[in-house]
Amino acid sequence: MLKILLVPLTRPFTLDYMDYWVEVVKESLSKAGLESTIHVWSSVEKPPMECYVWSRRQYLSPCLISWLYSRIASKLYYYVVGIGYLDAYEEGLNFVFGEALPLHRTAIVYTKRLTPEFYGEKPDTNLYIERVAKEIIHELGHLLGLGHCSNSACVMRFSNSVYEVDEKTRYFCRKCSTKLLEKQVDTL
Ligand SMILES: [Zn+2]
Ligand SMILES: [Zn+2]
Repeated sequence: MLKILLVPLTRPFTLDYMDYWVEVVKESLSKAGLESTIHVWSSVEKPPMECYVWSRRQYLSPCLISWLYSRIASKLYYYVVGIGYLDAYEEGLNFVFGEALPLHRTAIVYTKRLTPEFYGEKPDTNLYIERVAKEIIHELGHLLGLGHCSNSACVMRFSNSVYEVDEKTRYFCRKCSTKLLEKQVDTL
């Protein structure tokens, strides 16, 4: 049984949809043959300003992952996924939709660039929560040991733009599902 904890890092654009994400993450994992228990952290964990890079107006993703690990994941035997209406980057990349650090069982999904509004399009809640769901499941796949997948429908496909996020599904392809089941032997 996989134990997963979803942690809100901001209030707007996250809290209202937590129940939906719990449900669909559970469903995607169960379709791949994995049983899970998913909990939602009861408070909003505000990201530290030490990780904010003023010159870029973005958070430095590895800094936030380390912070979330020491604050929560290091103390609990859960796979931890932070979700925040934030914009973040890694060295060498303009932005990231999410990042996972499997050694620390910690990942974060940054949702600002997953809103249609970010691209000057009209708000679409259903589209937004579906995109975030895909990225949560994608990062969980990394935490469980999966790399990127070339199957265009697979949730583990790398997405360079929000349109590529829309093209994939929130499900693991057969190959990735098989790998997950093999790896489950050495998970929690
Ligand atoms: Zn990835
Ligand atoms: Zn795949």
